[in-house]
Amino acid sequence: MRYPAPMAWFKKVRKPIESGNKESRVPEGLWVKCPSCAQIIYNKDLAASLSVCTKCGHHFRLGAAERLKSLFDGGRFEEHDATLTSNDPLQFTDTKRYADRLKTTISGTNLKDAVIIGSGHLDGIPVVAAAMEYSFIGGSMGVVVGEKITRALEMALAQRHAAIVVSCSGGARMMEGALSLMQMAKVSAALARLDRAGVPFISVLTDPTTGGVTASFAMLGDLNIAEPKALIGFAGPRVIEQTIRQKLPDGFQRSEFLVEHGMLDLVVDRRELKDTIARALRFMGAGSVAAGTTAAVAVSAAAPALP
Ligand SMILES: [Zn+2]
Repeated sequence: MRYPAPMAWFKKVRKPIESGNKESRVPEGLWVKCPSCAQIIYNKDLAASLSVCTKCGHHFRLGAAERLKSLFDGGRFEEHDATLTSNDPLQFTDTKRYADRLKTTISGTNLKDAVIIGSGHLDGIPVVAAAMEYSFIGGSMGVVVGEKITRALEMALAQRHAAIVVSCSGGARMMEGALSLMQMAKVSAALARLDRAGVPFISVLTDPTTGGVTASFAMLGDLNIAEPKALIGFAGPRVIEQTIRQKLPDGFQRSEFLVEHGMLDLVVDRRELKDTIARALRFMGAGSVAAGTTAAVAVSAAAPALP
């Protein structure tokens, strides 16, 4: 025998759930949650503290333009070589065509490649600075990044102004193959000329600085300064563990560990970075222009000519 279907004792008239179309009173992106201490931070407060959590000091990633603004006096600087773009020399394709990847990244970031070059004054000291942009294909170093940083260093050399490079990069840009690896040698050679001329170079390593960038200019500063808890290394920890077949210690490849082991000079809070760089540059002779310059020029004139 078949039982009849149970009859409902009550009937509930369902109101449709309100759709989310109603205008929210809290606009999106006004608040940010700190991934380290879960503090909810007002966006404007975060910008005012240079994207450092005011509660626990967690350093959020900073874009290249904001980085340069944070270093130059009044946030003002002159940008150089802003129009250089990669022409996809290898016609490379991975999951999609590199040319298409470039196109979408350029329109998404409003940048032509992963570095911005600026010149101006840092606490009154004339400097040339480069800042890398992680949101542009992982801040990877291709021909354009290499060329722009090299030109920045050559400008610093010609004007005898200190050079600063703020790294934030996953390493060389594999879509440009060996051409991207050659940038390591090119930038390093420019740094050697700067060194011979006695012009200071300060490298700032931020989270993350890995691969070919660490293996070249990021570690070649007269002073290598890192931001707190930044991931800095050449190969990733998994690759190293598999190669040496040993468990890696805690905090391996973080700024604090690297300072302790002599790989870096300083770990500096972003809010004190500008003052620290200015102090270092003054210690290296910037500011004492009249006497310092003539002495330095005399030294560089005595140095042997480069091949
Ligand atoms: Zn926090």
